Parts: sequence; C-alpha cells; structure tokens
Amino acid sequence: MNVLTDYRVEDEIAVITMQHPPVNSLGLALRQSLWKAIQQALSEAQVKAIVLCSSGKLFCGGADITEFANQQFFSEPDLNALCNMFEASPKPVIAAINGQALGGGCELALSADYRIAEAQAKIGLPEVHLGLLPGAGGTQRLPRLSNVETALEMIFHGKAQSAKKLASTGLIDRIHEGPEDLRAAAIRYAKELVAAQAPVKTCAEMQVDTSRLSEDFFNQFRANNKRALQGFYSPERCIEAVEAACQLPLLQGLAREAALFTDCMNTPQARAQQHLFFAERAAKKIPGVDPKTPPRPLHKVAIIGSGTMGGGIAMNFINAGIPTVILDLNAEALERGLEVIRKNYDISAKKGRFSAEQVQQILALLSTTTDYGDLSDADLVIEAVFEKMEIKQKVFQTLDSVCKPGAILATNTSTLDVNAIAAVTRRPQDVIGLHFFSPANVMRLLEIVRAEQTADDALISAVQMAAKIGKVPVVAGVCFGFIGNRMLEPYGREACRMLLEGATPAQIDGVLTRFGMAMGPLSVQDLAGIDIGALIRQGRREAIAHDPSYCIIQDKLYEMGRYGQKTGRGNYIYEGREQKEDPEVLELCRHTADELGVAQRQISEQEIIERTIYFLINEAAQILDEGIAYRSSDCDLVWVNGYGFPAWRGGPLQYADEIGLATVVAALKRLQKELGAYGEMWFTPAPLLEKLAADGKLFKDYSHPKYA
Ligand code: NAD
Repeated sequence: MNVLTDYRVEDEIAVITMQHPPVNSLGLALRQSLWKAIQQALSEAQVKAIVLCSSGKLFCGGADITEFANQQFFSEPDLNALCNMFEASPKPVIAAINGQALGGGCELALSADYRIAEAQAKIGLPEVHLGLLPGAGGTQRLPRLSNVETALEMIFHGKAQSAKKLASTGLIDRIHEGPEDLRAAAIRYAKELVAAQAPVKTCAEMQVDTSRLSEDFFNQFRANNKRALQGFYSPERCIEAVEAACQLPLLQGLAREAALFTDCMNTPQARAQQHLFFAERAAKKIPGVDPKTPPRPLHKVAIIGSGTMGGGIAMNFINAGIPTVILDLNAEALERGLEVIRKNYDISAKKGRFSAEQVQQILALLSTTTDYGDLSDADLVIEAVFEKMEIKQKVFQTLDSVCKPGAILATNTSTLDVNAIAAVTRRPQDVIGLHFFSPANVMRLLEIVRAEQTADDALISAVQMAAKIGKVPVVAGVCFGFIGNRMLEPYGREACRMLLEGATPAQIDGVLTRFGMAMGPLSVQDLAGIDIGALIRQGRREAIAHDPSYCIIQDKLYEMGRYGQKTGRGNYIYEGREQKEDPEVLELCRHTADELGVAQRQISEQEIIERTIYFLINEAAQILDEGIAYRSSDCDLVWVNGYGFPAWRGGPLQYADEIGLATVVAALKRLQKELGAYGEMWFTPAPLLEKLAADGKLFKDYSHPKYA
C-alpha cells in the first residue's frame, strides 16, 4: 500500500488510516490510495467491517484546492466517485473523526455508514467561503443524516459545529470521550456493529424529513439572510442544493448539486474568494526572511495610550489569554479607557459571546499603570498615543531606556515614518509598525510595517502574533500611509473633488455601496472624523499645495466645526442614527466650485467608479513598483479586511485583473483629457500599470524584481 494510507486488518476489521500530513488533503494521490484501500477491504473475505481514520491531528481538512488550477481536482477517482464508493460498500464503514472533518473530509465521513467522533471534533462544510458549495454529496447527504435546518445553516454559513452538538441531530452515532485512543474505540465500535449485525446504510434509501418545515421555509431563510447573499453567488446556490435534497432522490440530487457546483466554479466570485484564500497564505511569507526563524517570546504585552486604539488593541491580547498592561498619562485617562473596554465586554456578554465568568477571567489579565517601570518585563510594547512625531519619538526614547533587551517596540501610527521613530532608539532592529484598524478588537487586518532595520525575528514574531490574536497580517514597507492609507488617499481625494464638480455625498456613497463597499467614502469620513483627515492634510501641505481644490470642502467643513458623526454634522447631517443629505453642504459645494471656476455637471455612476476604484488600482500599482507591497494580493487583503472592499470581488487588484488592466488605463487616460488641467495634475497612469496593460499581463503574475 502506498505511504499516504496505511491498510491493515485487525480481528476482521480493516483499518484504513490516512497519513498525509499536515491535514490529509484529498489530492489525487490520496484519493487513489483510499480507492485502492477500500477495494482491498471489499475483496478480502475475512474483512467484516471497515474503519476509516487518520494518523494525524485531524481526520481530514478537505479537498486539495491547489488542484483547481491544474484540473487534477476532476481526475479519477474524483471526490464524488470516492464518496460513492464508500457509501456503496456492502460492508459497514465506520468513520473515526478526530480534530476536524472539513469540506471534502466531512463529505467522506458522510458517506460512511456510522460515525464515531471526539466530542470536540469540528465538522463543517466551508466551501461557501471559496465561492462554491460542497460538491461531493455534502448538500444531499447532510440534510438526510442530520436535519434540514442544521444542514442549511452549516452549508450556507460555512461554519463548523462540534461533534457533540451534531450528535443530537443523529449525524454522529457515537461520541468518544475518555483516555482510550479513538482508533481503538472505533475498532471496538466496529466489532460491536458486526456482532449486532448492524445494517449498512445508504443515503439513497433515506429521505429528508421535511415534515417540520413551514411551506415558505427556504424563502424565509433567504429573507433572514439577505445581507449574506448580497453580491455573493454561491450562498443562493447552497440554498438551492439543499432544496433539491428535500425534493429529489439521492442520485438526481447529486446531479443537481454537481450542476450547481460547476455554475459556482465558473464565476468571478469564486475566483475572487479563492484568490483571497491563497492571498492569506501568501501574505505570511516575507521575502528575504527564513520562515523557520524562531520567534521571540510573547508572554506579556504593554500598550501605551488607552484611547480608541489602545483599548481595542489590548482586548485582542487579553482575549487570547496574554497578560497586558496599559499605560497612560494619568489615572483619569486610564479610567476612561477602561470604562470603554468594560462596556465592550458587557455588549459581548449580552450577545452571548462570553459568559460573565469568562469576562471576569479575561479582565483579570488586564492591568493599568502610569509608571514606565512596570513595562520592564514586557515582550511586546505597542504605542498608540496621539499621531504626532515628537510625542511618539519621546515615548520611544523612554521605552528604549526601560524595556528589556529583545522586547519588540511597536508603533500603531497610521501615517508617520517608522524609520524616524526607530532612529531615536539604540535598538532600531527591535522597532516595527503594528497598524491596527478601528475598532481594533473587531477589524481583522493588521498591517505590519517593516522599517529599514527591523530584525527578521521581530517580523516573524509579529506575523505569528497576528495568528494568535486572529488577525490577517500583511507586511508593508515604510511610506506615507503604508499600503492601506496610501491607497485611500487618491480614492478620498477624487470623492471630495467630485462634490465640487456636482455629485452629492449620497450619490457618491450610493454608487460605491452598490459596487459593494461596506460604506461610501464620505460616510467613512464622517465616521472617522473630518478633523482627523484635516489634521493629516496639514502635515503634508507640500504634497498637495499645487491643487487648490484638494479636499477643500472637507477643510471648510473642518473650519465650520463639522467633524462628522461626533458633532452631528459633516458631509451629512445626523438626526439620531439617521443620515441625511444636507442642503447647506450642497450649497457650500456650489459656492466653492464657483469660486474655483469649477463647472458643475451631472456625474455618471461609471465615472464615479472610475475616479475612485480605479485610483485604488493605480496607487496600488505604484506601491508594488516601489516595493512597498510584496505582491498584489497583499494590497487586496488590506482593502478587503481593513477598508470594506467587497470580498466577492477579491480586492481592487483582483477586480482589475477581472476587468482587464487596459480598461483601467484607458479610463484614466480618457478622464485625464476630459478633466483638463485637473486631469493633467492627477490622472497619469502609474508606469507599472501602463506597462502591465501594454504587455497584456495581470497583477497576479507580477512580482517585483527585488522579491522575485
Ligand atoms: P486617542 O486620542 O483616542 O488616544 C490616545 C491616547 O494616548 C490617550 O488616551 C492619551 O491620553 C494617550 N497619550 C497621549 N500622549 C501620551 C503619552 N506621551 N504617554 C502615554 N499616553 C499618552 O487616539 P487613537 O485614535 O487611539 O490613536 C492612537 C494612534 O493610533 C495614533 O497614532 C493614530 O494615528 C493611530 N490609529 C488610529 C486609528 C483610528 O481610527 N482612531 C486607526 C489606526 C491607527
């Protein structure tokens, strides 16, 4: 037998053990090996039952999706054929599930006759996150073996459930607890089944029990999940596949599932979601850094500043069980910060995310201080004080004098030069940027800023720390705004300029939310604070001085004290939670346009997209060219996880690859002409974008010569 599976017979029980680390991914070689193993078990007369188990930490993580690219996914035996073979076995098959049975791994377990599982094992069908649906019988067998409600929830949301929970639905026949090895328990169970002459079971003979479902059950489900359906293609197909399971015999249901799977596979959404899946893996690889570099220890964290960011950042670490101390200027500031943290946990507890006891345990890990001496044993210090270079440099000088050797000193700056911060210490190799996003306890993105002298092990530590606290890390070089805020700059600039040219805030935001953005740029400004943007602009007047129209409306709103939601007025007017277009702002735009000699006109939906989204693409091309980002997928991860770009489009550069880079270049050049002097000022396509477009290339094929 080949090395990917072990086959042996013990007391009339054939034991097939998958041994293809790390996750027994069901690539062609493992499928072939399993196929041979089951054939052998069927051909040996002494074998009375078959146990399918894993030698690793988990039963099976699912299909090998790298095979999508080379079509091996469909090579015989494909996963469907393998599952059908297991199901058709005249000898009972017992799946022994440890750790996880996900995707194809779950489908394999569903085609067994009986399932024994560790109580905590996770069982799930996450294909929807890849823009697909389970395509090897999952949508047909799961509702038969559990129930429609459970199956629909699991398939539609792609969320795994514990075996213990699923046992109550009938999906798991026996829960395994106690010290006995699962393999031994499964063999014992198989013998019991043989002795009791337990029947083999096939889903072909089972019908989905729909007796408890209301007539409009599926439409009700659609109505309740409207938001999750928006823009995505596969969730609706997941529902249709489960509907089919309720209506059709197994064979026809499987055919329907296969057709829906193929439909999904050929969509831009599936390409986008799979792109993001691979992007997350790629982002952990840092050019020039050996991935085996041992990380530094992380037993205690210190945060400087207990404001909006500091408090949220601290929550990440205490949630992960890491003791954390927050330092601020005085007791009042600390108390204010703590109050916000406590409130956040109260909300989480009310939503049922934590029990009151868990909240207490978590908060016990948090301490506060005003004394830098208490930071001397911290392994990681994250500074989140006001965005002013002099203040940050002072903080870092102090950290340099009090922190232990080897402590990682991080800044959460959004825009400032991390090299200049590192330069005031005697240990620039320990200094790094850790750019969290607001709200820091919620947003998944963590931009890790690699300064000129940041040590390799500090970088590796930051990437691994991100995984510990459930963040998506993306490493960026030093420049104004790193990856995310730098791309934001021209996107915001054009949104503001179009107000002068006659578009309204609601029109621009409406176009972009219809495009799929979580929020429009002008609503985002109102949420983040018009004052914050104005202060950042004050710090970079030189770069924008040649354009008198640059965010002029927002500068005027700032002067008027209209800071956005916090003052009840900004680009919009706020009444309670309601946001309304404000005639005063529209008048301000008309008046200012007159003063600057800008003609107002109707701006089309297409132009709004070209002047915002295409600038994300253009700026990202420049960032790639400068080597600030290592790969285009890093820019996509940043915008999907930090700025509300729709995941189903895969990020700005995946979107560009879909529509064609030449389309983007042509639009920028057309606008450059149409917009006259303003167009000349800002609309020159980035050289890399132009070159890739001219060569008919895609962003995903590009790598910087430095990192190739
Ligand atoms: P904030 O004003 O809410 O909080 C700053 C805190 O730092 C205050 O509690 C203040 O008392 C404290 N502080 C100021 N000087 C200090 C010093 N010398 N020593 C100790 N504590 C000091 O600010 P924020 O919004 O939390 O921003 C903090 C940092 O995070 C800034 O660099 C900002 O650019 C960055 N950031 C902010 C956001 C955001 O959306 N707010 C997002 C990403 C990054």
